[in-house]
Amino acid sequence: MTDPVDERRAELAEALAAVRGRIAAACASAHRSPDEVELLAVTKTRPATDAALLLELGLCAFGENRVQEATGKVAELDRLRPGNGARWHLVGRLQRNKARPVAAWAARVESVDSVRLADALDGAARRAVQGGERSAPLPVLVQVSLDDDPARGGVPPSGLDELADRVAAAAGLRLDGLMAVAPLGAEPARAFADLARLAERLRSRHPDARVLSAGMTADMDEAIRCGSTCVRVGTALLGERRLASP
Ligand SMILES: *Cc1c(COP(=O)(O)O)cnc(C)c1O
Repeated sequence: MTDPVDERRAELAEALAAVRGRIAAACASAHRSPDEVELLAVTKTRPATDAALLLELGLCAFGENRVQEATGKVAELDRLRPGNGARWHLVGRLQRNKARPVAAWAARVESVDSVRLADALDGAARRAVQGGERSAPLPVLVQVSLDDDPARGGVPPSGLDELADRVAAAAGLRLDGLMAVAPLGAEPARAFADLARLAERLRSRHPDARVLSAGMTADMDEAIRCGSTCVRVGTALLGERRLASP
């Protein structure tokens, strides 16, 4: 009889090797080093036990898109694996009134798309530092919209400079770069080429903002060819999600 935990670990190990292979191949074809591309396991809708197994397999950066789910999972992983070195990134939409718990656990918030949200996170991060839950400002990415669809989040490119300047000036935050999701039904390569230009524009104003978080299961190869430094992968690592997640 096979232990279901061993079975799941083997499944995740195989998926992880395949995803790392895809990243390596995309990097090779773009003449980039795979060391330049961070892999974030998007564990939304998945149990903390999956994150624990991925940690055993050497992956320690996780992405979540809902604050409540994430806050519970972070605490559960801490119970399952005390002192784990996991880094949790929020990649989904954030309401201003939920900024405080996120500032306590997030290694990075990738979905800052308004000045009002940046201000709320700035205050929350400073209080988290005062309260001893953080030791440093909160790294954030500005999420930029590539299709002007407000439902999917992201600041329109016309608002990028103002928002980035605001984040860079906030004492509680650290501007690390840009995040985007390819538009539905559009050619991802074209959207990511637009994104690469926006990233260059951002770096000309803020030279330290070098992170470009782009690419998911369906389009990570194109994203890497367009300069992504962080791919956010759910389905290809953890399997199809049964629950719909916006
Ligand atoms: C769910 C999600 C992902 C991962 O999507 P997959 O297609 O399952 O790899 C990446 N980024 C964001 C913002 C997400 O919400």
